[in-house]
Amino acid sequence: MKGKKIKDSAMENALGKFLEQEQYLVMGFEKDKGDVYHRIFKDNLDNYSLMNPVFATNGALYLRRLFAKGAQIVIVLRPCEVRAYIELVKLTQIERRNIVAVSIDCFGTISSKDKNGDVPSGPDEIKSFFGDPEKGRFACKNCRERRGVVGDAGIRIDESGNFWTFPYTEKGETLLSLMEGDPEEAPQQMLIGENQQVQAFQVDMETFSKDFSKCIMCMNCRDMCPVCYCVDCVFNGDEYLPKGDALFNKIFRTGSTGMPRGKELFHLIRMFHVSQTCVGCGACEEACPQGIPLTKYFKGISERLQGMFSYMSGRSFDESIPYLTFVEDELKDADD
Ligand code: SF4
Ligand code: SF4
Ligand code: SF4
Repeated sequence: MKGKKIKDSAMENALGKFLEQEQYLVMGFEKDKGDVYHRIFKDNLDNYSLMNPVFATNGALYLRRLFAKGAQIVIVLRPCEVRAYIELVKLTQIERRNIVAVSIDCFGTISSKDKNGDVPSGPDEIKSFFGDPEKGRFACKNCRERRGVVGDAGIRIDESGNFWTFPYTEKGETLLSLMEGDPEEAPQQMLIGENQQVQAFQVDMETFSKDFSKCIMCMNCRDMCPVCYCVDCVFNGDEYLPKGDALFNKIFRTGSTGMPRGKELFHLIRMFHVSQTCVGCGACEEACPQGIPLTKYFKGISERLQGMFSYMSGRSFDESIPYLTFVEDELKDADD
């Protein structure tokens, strides 16, 4: 495959050229006093970082309900973030026309809760930081796609440590044309390989209830999940989670109740809602103050369900989400 080898700061230069234009923005990461966080850059790329080995949130969250006409945005994010963006495009929660999405090879990430000391931001530093594979989050150790192969373009790292940019769509070609140099044949072998196989996840209700017994129903997991996007979530009203008068009327009708109510129902309904679009990023778990192993459940269930439909969330713009499609002869290759 042909791509452009990224020499020195060619990527930053290309993004810088993009920012020179009126109403153009870049979303990526910023190094700030030993920390790296998401940032939307306007005018310049001060303190820009191509990579971030610490996971706090999934950046696709900030793109939801972005329909602006005129603004043009390049996002350079991890594969799980670009995959969530692609799912949101399919769910008509983001207008794709204004965005060029670039995924970058990901060595994995640690939880922002486990961050200790300065965050490495250069690729060599990050690679050696992840020399011990046990360091990564559960989501990363079981990641389906760590390669920058999704979106409009991808940044890949070859075995000699060279960075390459590959275009996957017309928009990706345009971005590539802003970069110096000519396209050349890239090595077949890249540092980060094919998808890892994820084991089918199964659990009994007793373990599920035990794991979720600590839940305080703060709903951070819902609010930080990039693909849990409903404005009118059913759990905001009184129907599922009555409060005040509605709660006390219910208690008078049905008897005493433990609080908070509806924990299992909340998680089962959320699991059902995101099961086909979950990208396994673990942002839900990262947001949970109670340390509940949410990724195991949400990613586990969704991998299994997506597998039944030979679907992978965020793999492609053209692959329709199974619940949005009617196929008469569906599930003929189901293996579950
Ligand atoms: S889930 Fe995958 S893509 Fe996302 S941070 Fe972890 S390894 Fe990277
Ligand atoms: S359910 Fe959790 S793992 Fe799945 S997309 Fe949402 S935040 Fe990521
Ligand atoms: S973030 Fe944790 S405590 Fe809060 S609702 Fe979700 S699982 Fe429960």
